[in-house]
Formats: sequence, C-alpha cells, structure tokens
Amino acid sequence: MAVPFRRTSKTKKRMRRTHLKKDVGALTVCPQCGETIRPHRVCTKCGYYKGKEVIKTEEKTTKE
Ligand SMILES: [Zn+2]
Repeated sequence: MAVPFRRTSKTKKRMRRTHLKKDVGALTVCPQCGETIRPHRVCTKCGYYKGKEVIKTEEKTTKE
C-alpha cells in the first residue's frame, strides 16, 4: 500500500476542509409567525403545522 511521502501541512489540510461544511438544507417561512423553518416540520416558534396548533409553545403562553 502506498504511504504518503510528506505529512499534509496545516494550510493544505485547512484549504481542503473549507469545502467540508454542513448543508443547512431547504428552508421555508412559517405562514403563522413568519419564522424561517424546515419544510414538513412543526414550527418550533409557534407550534403550528398545516394551519393547526400541534404543540404548545412557552412563547405563546407568555404572550397571551
Ligand atoms: Zn411559526
């Protein structure tokens, strides 16, 4: 098996890893509160999904 002749320098390693970043993925806007949310998920801010309140959120209870 071939063995690297030289150790990869810090700079070379970091330059290579600039492309290794986590993809955030698709985002949509919540029609209820306008927050940026992931599609097909309950909004974490207002707890709404498909026009219905699915989960109770603390922020909503303190607001009202
Ligand atoms: Zn929302």
